[in-house]
Amino acid sequence: MNEYDSNRIYDLTSIIGYKKTHVKKDADCFVLNTCHIRKKATEKVYDEIGRVKKDFKNLKKPLVVVSGCVAQAESEEMIKREPYIDMVIGPQSYHKIGDLILNYERKKEKINETKFDVIGKFDELKKIPNSQNKISSYLTIQEGCDKFCHFCVVPYTRGPEYSRPFVQVVDEAKNLISNGAREIILLGQNVNAYNYNKKYKLSSLIKALNNIENLKRIRFTTSHPKDMTDDLIDCYRDCEKLMPFLHLPIQSGSNKILKLMNRKHDREYYMSVVEKLNKVDKNIKISSDFIVGYPGETDRDFEDTMELVEKVGFVNSYSFIFSPRPGTPAAVKKLTNLAESEIRLKKLQNKLENLRYRNNQKYLKQHCEVLIENKLDNQEEFFGRTKYMTPVIFKSDNCKAGELANIKITSFNQKNLFGISKNNKEKAA
Ligand code: SF4
Repeated sequence: MNEYDSNRIYDLTSIIGYKKTHVKKDADCFVLNTCHIRKKATEKVYDEIGRVKKDFKNLKKPLVVVSGCVAQAESEEMIKREPYIDMVIGPQSYHKIGDLILNYERKKEKINETKFDVIGKFDELKKIPNSQNKISSYLTIQEGCDKFCHFCVVPYTRGPEYSRPFVQVVDEAKNLISNGAREIILLGQNVNAYNYNKKYKLSSLIKALNNIENLKRIRFTTSHPKDMTDDLIDCYRDCEKLMPFLHLPIQSGSNKILKLMNRKHDREYYMSVVEKLNKVDKNIKISSDFIVGYPGETDRDFEDTMELVEKVGFVNSYSFIFSPRPGTPAAVKKLTNLAESEIRLKKLQNKLENLRYRNNQKYLKQHCEVLIENKLDNQEEFFGRTKYMTPVIFKSDNCKAGELANIKITSFNQKNLFGISKNNKEKAA
């Protein structure tokens, strides 16, 4: 979502005359769009500001803006801790960035703008065409969360669940497609909770997008198991553009831990969703997120997670050691021994890597459909992704970005597949 927001922040600043530069020292303004999901992400912000300070030591100080969830959660503290910051703007008020910069240029007074104004934000954004022109483009449809998992900051930094108007989303999708997008990834902190006016759900949006000419692939992320309703699951059967790959975080395989996390589902419920998905499309694959060493996690709980991972056969998953986020209920709980958590994380990541390897191995000598995203800098190879998001690097002399190509996989490693384009699928058709 930060990638989507960063692009929109750029669209907003370009109205007041700013342009992107790839030469750091040429910049008059830095906008650091931040993530607060883990402590490491927060510290990265200060590291980056330190680098800017160093680069501009003997130059005119640039305007430094911190936006995003760290700005929302730690606004006052940030301005105190790092006087080099001129402005903090929360994720629900960045639509005001143009006016705020102009104000700052006039008054030179520090600005702290962290109001929750999500309706105002999207009302403003709809007036400004999205300039994103990637083959695979993000499109935010929903923000915020009402689930309050005990480890998560999202409900505090992004606010309550909000769904953008249906027509506004479809219009923006058409805009992105006219810019060249061939894949749209619908975004939300709790994307499958999308519900506009109690009439339009995520399934309605997928069906509408499925009918748009020139769009080839649809994805959505991130979903909560509780909101995987039957109408949405049926889209995997009925909408051919919806890719058979779903990121569905479970966080832990232990019912005790899921309860402590306030996840509002147990492993049996999660497995029932997986079964339903497999029923509508036997080729569907699932990835997940895991938190290791959550307060109260024992070896037995961890083994439950390991067992569930094998059972579902997750692909491309993410796993982290629990990171206490200030202000969340889990932040005050007794931490699991770090050395123990590190051992568990390694075990889990080995297993996930093995699953990924086994999955990539299946492609060897097979043909697979790849959406071509770009030509690599070496000008000889292309980059694209399979239906399951696996990166593919391949050689071809007759391919173009945005096309679906039929690629023969000749080798692979842990992360990528490598191959050669036999024929261009669309031309052959
Ligand atoms: S459902 Fe997701 S976004 Fe919402 S509180 Fe839980 S982890 Fe955070």
